[in-house]
Amino acid sequence: MAVNFGKIVVGIYVEIKRSDGVGLLTGRIHQAMVTSLNEDNESVTVEWIENGDTKGKEIDLECIFSLNPDVAPEEEISLSPVTPPPPTPSSVKVTKIPKNRRTIAPGRSEIPSRDNRVISTRGRPAQQQQPESAPPPPVQQPSQPTQSQTQSQLTQQQQNAARRKSNCVKEVEKLQEKRERRRIQQQELREKRAQEIDTTVPNYEILQMIRDFRASLDYRPLTTTDLIEEHRICVCVRKRPLNKKELTVRDLDVITIPSKDVVMVHEPKQKVDLTRFLENQTFRFDYAFDDSTTNEMVYRFTARPLVETIFDRGMATCFAYGQTGSGKTHTMGGDFSGKNQDCSKGIYALAARDVFLMLKKPNYKKLDLQVYATFFEIYSGKVFDLLNRKAKLRVLEDGKQQVQVVGLQEREVKCTEDVLKLIEMGNSCRTSGQTSANAHSSRSHAVFQIILRRKGKMHGKFSLIDLAGNERGADTSSADRQTRLEGAEINKSLLALKECIRALGRNKPHTPFRASKLTQVLRDSFIGENSRTCMIATISPGMASCENTLNTLRYANRVKELTVDPNAVTEGVRPNVNALNQLDIMDEEWELGNSPQRDDLKLLCEQNEEEVSPQLFTFHEAVSHLVEMEEQVLEDHRAVFQESIRWLEDEKVLLEMTEEVDYDVDSYSSQLEQILDQKIDILIELRDKVRSFRSTLQEEEQASKQINPKRPRAL
Ligand code: ADP
Ligand code: MG
Repeated sequence: MAVNFGKIVVGIYVEIKRSDGVGLLTGRIHQAMVTSLNEDNESVTVEWIENGDTKGKEIDLECIFSLNPDVAPEEEISLSPVTPPPPTPSSVKVTKIPKNRRTIAPGRSEIPSRDNRVISTRGRPAQQQQPESAPPPPVQQPSQPTQSQTQSQLTQQQQNAARRKSNCVKEVEKLQEKRERRRIQQQELREKRAQEIDTTVPNYEILQMIRDFRASLDYRPLTTTDLIEEHRICVCVRKRPLNKKELTVRDLDVITIPSKDVVMVHEPKQKVDLTRFLENQTFRFDYAFDDSTTNEMVYRFTARPLVETIFDRGMATCFAYGQTGSGKTHTMGGDFSGKNQDCSKGIYALAARDVFLMLKKPNYKKLDLQVYATFFEIYSGKVFDLLNRKAKLRVLEDGKQQVQVVGLQEREVKCTEDVLKLIEMGNSCRTSGQTSANAHSSRSHAVFQIILRRKGKMHGKFSLIDLAGNERGADTSSADRQTRLEGAEINKSLLALKECIRALGRNKPHTPFRASKLTQVLRDSFIGENSRTCMIATISPGMASCENTLNTLRYANRVKELTVDPNAVTEGVRPNVNALNQLDIMDEEWELGNSPQRDDLKLLCEQNEEEVSPQLFTFHEAVSHLVEMEEQVLEDHRAVFQESIRWLEDEKVLLEMTEEVDYDVDSYSSQLEQILDQKIDILIELRDKVRSFRSTLQEEEQASKQINPKRPRAL
């Protein structure tokens, strides 16, 4: 059969639409190019690009013509309308596509249309978030003929067909035979594939659904050649691989990272009739790192751009946020999985390495900067120095409204090796006496700082924070007070952190820094024009972690979602100028003796009404009150203790005096009375404080029982 393909072979693309759910191309609209015509078996070869590979396929001419009458030679058109071919595994549409179109439209063909119903609009739909990267309009389908056109064509074509039937009939039969054979082959393939799925895997149907979904995606992961964007606030997500434990229990990987900034969660759900389905939720961030991404690569896009900030007299912060076991310490501290602990590949060390490299650049060399490091931990609202045997430190605001961690050791470091030694020292101090590193680190924030000083004066500061496990926020309803207080502090500090980061990105007048120790200590890093921050939300891939993972993604989403370009909000107004004025006002309030901590807590809870129920707020207030009281009681007790030593000495002198034969009884008795009066006054005062502290403890306990056990969710 002579077919004239001359006009269309070159520069014509073919969309392959598979509708039977079989094979790699499940339900996708693919664009492919006709690369050759195989006259022997009446077919064409088409090619397309998938996962960076060029793939090809042979398709019957008949099949193409039946669905693409506009490219079929006249005699072939007759075949399809009269006897439309039965549904085939591959249906092919030919479309002419402008040359400048990408072969595969981003964000469209990547998600199979038949699965659109399961793409939840909850969360932030990727398209909506970044309209600038919205995919090009869908490929225009060849216009369908109207009914009357079709009918008149049919009559004409039927006549033509009758005339040419003798010429074509053999070809058609041959083609149909071939199609039948192919269908049988496909059926066999399908059965074989079904067998490949190990049905002993728990939730294997879910596994199959996820596999099918993934097979329909185009993967375009982040590469080193991708542009490193400048962000004042950068929020990204890192997925770790399934670990041994998860593999042992055959947990499923429910996270897909198809491209450099998209994270998908396949959440298994059940309908009322018990059929299971996937709810696929899509999130977009500045960057999304899949489970094969190295620390070095994560560093390259997150913390590395911030190193320059501190050389330019700025403040930088980088947080690892996520559920315990999701990879925060691996990312920040390094790889501690094997016997050989290697902190040289963590972001702390990588940042230090680059600080020393930058220091050598002529521009910065002449500044004669010294580098210092601190390493401390915030646990239940208290600060402990990891470079000084976990000494408990006090956080105070000095006369210049600067927050000071009193007595925090700042060690001078001259090279990366010095820094590595400090990290090792701090890490071993952090976890000493703990049954497991995670048991402790899940309840505390670790802060590693690199400080640049010029002639002793602060030039810039980079704070790298391995946050407490966010699931701990739910511990507020625990039966154990210590666990409750830890949970409350974590809950509060992560909420406050979110507000502080949001405030950095918008011209926000009041930020609840003082609602938590974490944000109070980091306050100087959130104010000022030259402050930048980065959050790495780490997620576990397992189905068992799905809820926590979604909570992490929602939190990370809110951190960035509410970020508004300052220029867009206040054209011409320099960001943060008002924020600084407002801080002055806040500081005045502080001096007036109000409780700024409690004011900030109130503000924080108001800003987070969705997560903080009125009962939880009452509980937070009780905890906050309790913590203040505890500090006072301890301080007073210490003072009374010191005073008691003085009394003892005075009394000793008095008693010695009585051993004299002619001692002055008047003087003795009046002095003793004085001492006793003093003692009684002071002791009564302390006793009253202890009593009221004890009633605060009870208030806290009562308040904790009022919290709806479903709230709060882990942050
Ligand atoms: P977290 O600090 O969030 O509690 P960890 O960093 O301790 O979690 O990670 C938990 C476990 O997972 C560790 O054994 C760690 O080595 C491993 N892990 C975490 N992230 C990765 C990763 N990206 N690649 C390989 N293993 C990882
Ligand atoms: Mg950890």
